[in-house]
Amino acid sequence: MAGTEAPSVHVRGRVVLGRDREIDELWVKDGRVTLTRPSAQGSSMLELEGWVLPGLVDVHCHVGLDADGPVDDVTAETQATADRDTGVLLLRDAGSPRDTRWLQRREDMPRILRSGRHLARPRRYLRRYGLELEDPAMLPEAVRAEARSGDGWVKLVGDWIDRDLGADGDLRPLWPQAVLDEAVAAAHAEAARVTVHAFSDEVVPMLLAAGVDCIEHGTGIDASTIGEVAARGIPVTPTLLQVAQFDAIAARAGRYPVYAARMRRMHARRYEHVRDLFDAGVRLLVGTDAGGTIAHGRVVDECAELVAAGIPVRDVVAAASWQAREILGYGSLVEGASADLVVYPADPREDVEVLRHPTAVVLRGRVVAGRLAGRSAGHVTAR
Ligand SMILES: [Zn+2]
Repeated sequence: MAGTEAPSVHVRGRVVLGRDREIDELWVKDGRVTLTRPSAQGSSMLELEGWVLPGLVDVHCHVGLDADGPVDDVTAETQATADRDTGVLLLRDAGSPRDTRWLQRREDMPRILRSGRHLARPRRYLRRYGLELEDPAMLPEAVRAEARSGDGWVKLVGDWIDRDLGADGDLRPLWPQAVLDEAVAAAHAEAARVTVHAFSDEVVPMLLAAGVDCIEHGTGIDASTIGEVAARGIPVTPTLLQVAQFDAIAARAGRYPVYAARMRRMHARRYEHVRDLFDAGVRLLVGTDAGGTIAHGRVVDECAELVAAGIPVRDVVAAASWQAREILGYGSLVEGASADLVVYPADPREDVEVLRHPTAVVLRGRVVAGRLAGRSAGHVTAR
């Protein structure tokens, strides 16, 4: 097969590259996109037709982690495969206790941007998930280390319930402002970006002051901070599948009534809150938070939740594909780009449910999943 000149795949229909940017067709050659029509059509070329999106992105999931902490290699691979099979070809791992670099070397696995380990404090996050720093002052150094071994992102836990407050136990920021400032500066000095787990309203102004690059959950972004989050273009990942669990979390927190009441309030307002973010012009991202208590492979469920909240389908699809790729520094389906794309039998921008049944998930030029999984030649009309 070495030296093959002919493209292996011809994709046609509506190929969405970005906002108001569509093309009619492209070819895949040596795993890469080419927009140049081949002079002779090889007989072994796979024909794919339909609505085409750049590979989907899950910006908040955890590979190598489940409800009880780190998992074995087989489970980590199963998690990444489940994501891939739904069309997620790029994922930002928002913190994992496992080093998944070996998965990054696998041609058949989705691209993973690792944020390293969650940085937290003892008793101030889920057990066995992150690196627990005894002294908050250790944060900047820990950030530097994670930035150096990660893929351009560092994940901090910004707030969590403080059970030491007894019956008054409630969400509280984990880090003093000065430490947070220094930690974010340390990440930026390493050319890494910082994203932060944030449930409460109290932590948001601190994150803004420190200059974080992205906010996870963001349930506490309120009238006093929403304008600044929008104006500064800080993306927010609403993780509605996770926030849907706040009610259940509250039900298990009987000893902490203040906290439980707050979690219930945020749960009840979750759709309205996400709509407020959207209306204010906040850049929303799609993240399932899979890999803790949520199963992998649920990106379409998260998209459907955003639609249920009232976000237009077009905007949800953009957030789940080309927009997220742009924010993460991955280009669209331009000449020479890796052929990471998903073909659908109808326009997912009209109906989010279309995302559930891809015709073909193409990763590095190969059909790895979808109805035509494993197909590599012959004429196939997907419409
Ligand atoms: Zn998470």
